[in-house]
Amino acid sequence: MSTLAGKHGLVVGVANKRSISWAVAQAAVAAGARLALTYPSERLEENVRELAATLDRPVVLPCDVTSDQQIDALAAALDAEFGGLDFLLHGAAFAPKADLEHPVVQTSREGFRIALDVSAYSLIGLTRAVVPLMKKRGGGSVLTLTYLGSQRVFTNYNVMGVAKAALEACVRYLASDLGPDNIRVNAISAGPVKTLAAMGIKDFSSIRDIYGERTPLRRNIEPGEVADTAVFLFSAAARGITGDIMMVDAGYHVTGM
Ligand code: NAP
Repeated sequence: MSTLAGKHGLVVGVANKRSISWAVAQAAVAAGARLALTYPSERLEENVRELAATLDRPVVLPCDVTSDQQIDALAAALDAEFGGLDFLLHGAAFAPKADLEHPVVQTSREGFRIALDVSAYSLIGLTRAVVPLMKKRGGGSVLTLTYLGSQRVFTNYNVMGVAKAALEACVRYLASDLGPDNIRVNAISAGPVKTLAAMGIKDFSSIRDIYGERTPLRRNIEPGEVADTAVFLFSAAARGITGDIMMVDAGYHVTGM
């Protein structure tokens, strides 16, 4: 399947081999794309470089999504390297541990600001920076990763649920802003996957167990299933889809009791 042959993409949010963004990166390269991967801090640089080395001609660049300067430098480096950009995967999210653990009513002002900045505003900042590069290609596909906790209350998801609600609203407004430039903006709402970020959610294993029993497919999803959907959304096959939150959760969202 070479649906992304000749395309260039940016993948933000690889921490290690369990990251959903890493599964997307592997699938995009298998579909023919050439990628740039980012690392948010020196702590993760080696990890990301080691993983990237297994891909075809990767570009590895720094990007802490809370820094406008780093985002601008990233876009300039991508322009120099690729001469444009076809797709972006935004897979960054963060909330301070204390605020993630507290009920929403206890969320601190600073914890709220950080969670919303890293997990929602960063989609706006990154997208704005790559719009000129996507225009050079006559359009593009922007994709972010979200969770059903944006719409429903899940124990221990707390301020991240609020951040994901903002993120999904950003998807819709950005889709409307950028549609005239043929830039599509979508999200995949994934079922629970065991990753570093997920380990920050208290009792995450029990959430996964419940999903495994209750989803229509009676199982949890694999990161590769998110990745295959991402490749579809990056590709021309999805040219009519924008502003959408696509559920890749083995059907959990349709269940009642
Ligand atoms: P992950 O491997 O921990 O990836 C999250 C990434 O975001 C990490 O690389 C993290 O780096 C990065 N990040 C945090 N702050 C950043 C910053 N300031 N600048 C740039 N990057 C930053 O976990 P994941 O589960 O794959 O998460 C990817 C996305 O999927 C997130 O948006 C998450 O909410 C979403 N999602 C996950 C699940 C799930 O069950 N795992 C379900 C639905 C949606 P650090 O390690 O340095 O913080």
